[in-house]
Amino acid sequence: MKVAIMGAGLSGLSCALTLEQHGLDVTIFESRSQTGDRFVNGEILLSILQRPVSDCIVYLAEKHNVFLHPTSNISKLMLYSEKEETAISGFLGFTNIRGRHEDSFEKQLGRQVKSKIIYNSDYTYKQLMKEFTHVVMATGDAAYVMKLDNYRKDLSVTLKGATVEGHFTPSTVIAWLNNEFAPKGYAYLIPFSDKEANIVIAYPDYPENKAKDIDRLWEKFYQEACSKLNQEMRITDGFEVTEYIIGVCQQPRLGNTLFTGNCFGSIMPFLGFGQWVALLTGIYAAQDLSGMGRYEELTKPLRQGYENSLVLRRGMEKADNTRFDLMIRALGGRLGEKLFNSGHHDPLKLVSYLLRPFV
Ligand SMILES: Cc1cc2nc3c(=O)[nH]c(=O)nc-3n(C[C@H](O)[C@H](O)[C@H](O)COP(=O)(O)OP(=O)(O)OC[C@H]3O[C@@H](n4cnc5c(N)ncnc54)[C@H](O)[C@@H]3O)c2cc1C
Repeated sequence: MKVAIMGAGLSGLSCALTLEQHGLDVTIFESRSQTGDRFVNGEILLSILQRPVSDCIVYLAEKHNVFLHPTSNISKLMLYSEKEETAISGFLGFTNIRGRHEDSFEKQLGRQVKSKIIYNSDYTYKQLMKEFTHVVMATGDAAYVMKLDNYRKDLSVTLKGATVEGHFTPSTVIAWLNNEFAPKGYAYLIPFSDKEANIVIAYPDYPENKAKDIDRLWEKFYQEACSKLNQEMRITDGFEVTEYIIGVCQQPRLGNTLFTGNCFGSIMPFLGFGQWVALLTGIYAAQDLSGMGRYEELTKPLRQGYENSLVLRRGMEKADNTRFDLMIRALGGRLGEKLFNSGHHDPLKLVSYLLRPFV
């Protein structure tokens, strides 16, 4: 068996690591000049989205020998809507860095992988299919999966972000639900350290949003963030992502090709989280190729998670700022604490079932 992995990102590298553990021969093809060769941004792993796993970092290390160092624990999540705010405390998850930074998750994984990585690759899928017995498609986008007619696109998203300098609490993440600057979307602040953070707005590319001026939305958000944090944050770097596709593959495997990460459908439509499923699909694809289970079966709960998250997104899109205020107020007090700290239950699954008849 000769395995090619297309893409040295989260799912490609977690797949390679697991294949290596089982003694399989694997070559990784990466179109960029090094792992993580893209803008630096902060991302989070939220425990509530990984139930029944409570600590995903320990789980990945103990169960799958995949070792990751997050930037910080998240012990507080501040939520703002137009008129309300609430703080949720507990063991809420982790922050981490992505991209060119030495501590980014992909750089950390790249240092653990021993297999050959061919950088600046312009190998096409067709070429890899000819030269290898199996291909793991882990390119982080849906381009090839769509060409193969194996993908259901549900929406695409525009993101604009910046690195800012200021004073931050590394264990506190902030999120905004406010249609004034993130129409049908969300905005957030994720600290890299006590001096640096990443601020981002993300909103879907629906026709009513297309006419909106991203720079004006951004300016409103930036002012709001400075005001809530009570400081002038200095912007030192920025990025923009357009048409970031969110959807899910029809089949996780076509012939000898397995689709992982965003090619599988790892980004949860509700709030755009994709790291956890990306890592797991990489591991599960490798387990399948090592004869330890069927990829289709292993990924079934992840696919269900995607569909549940889509219901939450559709529900969220119906909300105006008054409803966001009600939601944020309701999450204050015991409900929020219970939802985010409810041990082994999967509260989002329950919420999505309750919402299903209405969306
Ligand atoms: C701005 C932003 C913020 C996000 N925030 C969060 C967050 O807070 N929490 C969260 O859980 N998720 C977040 N996500 C989503 C998460 O980053 C992705 O779901 C996850 O990285 C997908 O992993 P992957 O393995 O599919 O792709 P990636 O990790 O992106 O890796 C894909 C790799 O394939 C390479 N590649 C592309 N095309 C080719 C080709 N033709 N041949 C060879 N190599 C190729 C790329 O260069 C890249 O190295 C965010 C995404 C963005 C864009």
